[in-house]
Amino acid sequence: ERSDSVNSRSSVTELYEMGNELGSGAFSTVVLCKAKKTGNLYAMKVVNRSSLSKSLEEALKREILILNDLDHPNILRLIETFSTIKTHYLVTELVEGGELFDRIVEKSTYTESEARDVSRTLFNALKYCHSKHVCHRDLKPENILLKSREGDTQIVIADFGLSRKAPKEDSLKTMCGSPYYLSPEILKRERYGVKTDVWSLGVIIFILLGGHPPFSHDNRAIQNKYIKDCKYSFIEEYWGNVSAEAKALIKALLVVDPKQRLSAADALRHPWMRTEWAILRRHS
Ligand code: ADP
Ligand code: MG
Repeated sequence: ERSDSVNSRSSVTELYEMGNELGSGAFSTVVLCKAKKTGNLYAMKVVNRSSLSKSLEEALKREILILNDLDHPNILRLIETFSTIKTHYLVTELVEGGELFDRIVEKSTYTESEARDVSRTLFNALKYCHSKHVCHRDLKPENILLKSREGDTQIVIADFGLSRKAPKEDSLKTMCGSPYYLSPEILKRERYGVKTDVWSLGVIIFILLGGHPPFSHDNRAIQNKYIKDCKYSFIEEYWGNVSAEAKALIKALLVVDPKQRLSAADALRHPWMRTEWAILRRHS
């Protein structure tokens, strides 16, 4: 199914019919599209090349190469790509349930069991990426998409626009990502690696369970200081009914030193991830 990064055989409009906008980001618009030959629906990320700097152009090429190399049910599948002088087009699998971000806002919090299902899926996908030395670098609820409007836990990781290959724990040094989810090592402009994604997931799980971000302040400098000092708390009002195991996992994810922080594989072995199985065993 997958093709080379540049498809020069046919033009995109010969092969696809474009539809409504599905979403947009800083440099792209994502629209619904239909393959004329099969009638199958996909999503098409349309990137205006004139708005891209040289380094963003490089980043997009990397996104394409990285996505081509990833094959996982919970990672957005790249079908094919087209490029013209003015525009890049990325045809990807269509994910129809909207952003995890909007679902969190709708629900305000996930039950512990739902949060565990989402977390397990995310850690499994991350373990896969990290085994290929791919660091996503921009994990946040806007870049995690739900497979359907009905279920709350079937998800796909999208937007590898900032992703990089990081074979070593100190491979990367560029400052990037989103304020709430940035890791201390990125804020301190230290070298970093795939563990930065684990921190971001820690922040996401905190939000799923508590309904509020762990590090937030109107003043960005103060917010960054909270992150660098790992200063957060489990406020009784929101966290009173959350299990000790869940809090223990968050404490093991939000750790300033990446070496002391759990890996995605470690997180999957954490007691909180196993709670449900323990209950099942007790009843059988
Ligand atoms: P950017 O790099 O500009 O942030 P994204 O890849 O994150 O672009 O896409 C922007 C938004 O478009 C996403 O947050 C999401 O709402 C929507 N979107 C992206 N890919 C898909 C898809 N495959 N199916 C449905 N919606 C999508
Ligand atoms: Mg995005």
